[in-house]
Amino acid sequence: MRRLDLRKTQAARLNTIRDINRQIVLNYIREREPISRAEIAREADLQRSTISAIVEALTAEGLVEEVGEGESTGGRRPTLLRLRTKEAIAIGVAITPTCTTVATSDLAGRIVEQTEFLTDPNPEQTLAEVIAVTREFSARNGGSIEAVGVSLPGLVDPSTGTAVYVPYFKWRDIPIARTISSALGLPVIIDNDANAVALAELWFGRPEVSDARDFILVLVAEGVGTGIIFDGQVYRGQRGAAGEFGHMVIGTNAPVSCSCGSRDCWEAFSSERAAVARYMELAGVNRVAPLGFRELVDAALLGEAEARAALVETARCLGVGISNLVVGFSPEAVVVGGEIARAWPLVENALTETIEHSVRRGLPSAKILPSTLGEKPTLRGALSLVLAGKFAAAFAA
Ligand SMILES: [Zn+2]
Repeated sequence: MRRLDLRKTQAARLNTIRDINRQIVLNYIREREPISRAEIAREADLQRSTISAIVEALTAEGLVEEVGEGESTGGRRPTLLRLRTKEAIAIGVAITPTCTTVATSDLAGRIVEQTEFLTDPNPEQTLAEVIAVTREFSARNGGSIEAVGVSLPGLVDPSTGTAVYVPYFKWRDIPIARTISSALGLPVIIDNDANAVALAELWFGRPEVSDARDFILVLVAEGVGTGIIFDGQVYRGQRGAAGEFGHMVIGTNAPVSCSCGSRDCWEAFSSERAAVARYMELAGVNRVAPLGFRELVDAALLGEAEARAALVETARCLGVGISNLVVGFSPEAVVVGGEIARAWPLVENALTETIEHSVRRGLPSAKILPSTLGEKPTLRGALSLVLAGKFAAAFAA
């Protein structure tokens, strides 16, 4: 049982039960829409009058709307409810070492509008561009945007909204949230990219993942990051620094340097950059270089032997690190996100064989699954920083 933390626990307030029931009803609508009041009452085992009062409040807040009528089970046809998705409510900003994507989404996480530009190594330039685009999106939506979520490839302190360290650009202590927020007049939530993607998996992932209380998200991109979901929430550690497993040592002489400079880190063996370096080595110097990892995946899917070999070896290294995480955390699932998920049929065997080989008999095993968040998981992550707050419990656990 979890020990009561008196520094964090407020004495039960009069409306605590109402808050809990509100979240339950909102999440029934989110997960099971279209759904009637009677169905929610039956499934949640709550009074019909309680449901009606909560739905009325959720409708007034603009979170829920009525949509047509369902089948009658004798008597009047029930009115069905769904999330209100008429307008965009969130802006997501995914900053990566190469490009920055900005998008708006509705309450259900569907992307409405999207644009991207090259990330400038100068943080002031990048932030100026982020502010210009988000201001335009916000103005176009006539006040429906409630907050902005930003994901970053580095060490982030969400409590202060600061990018503590972004290794690719050597950004240190940049007050990202304050800078964007004061320019836009909107709340800004920032987080590390892998944590943000883990949050997106928790709220918008496939049921095998979103229903798991404990899982690990491994984000393979220019680097390798991990987001740990522990007991249904992101595990952060001190100053949000948990999950830096990209720097665990799994060997020596990796094909590329890690973002920290070492050649021994998991990231240096398993990142997109590592896979591209392997491919260059295998294909020889005369071969026209692929522009990037995306092209490497395309070539592998088309059957090019060197591209496949580079991916398989990268997957094997990825599997070594995942084995260590599985042994240490015993999660229900490990989700692999990033462009590599598109090549799942080519890498799945190398991954699972390595993990089965390393996770010795008697020690825990876990489901290894590709992310289902689509092409830009970090963008979905950035949006989730805003959206999860709408659905997550408002009460302290
Ligand atoms: Zn490193």
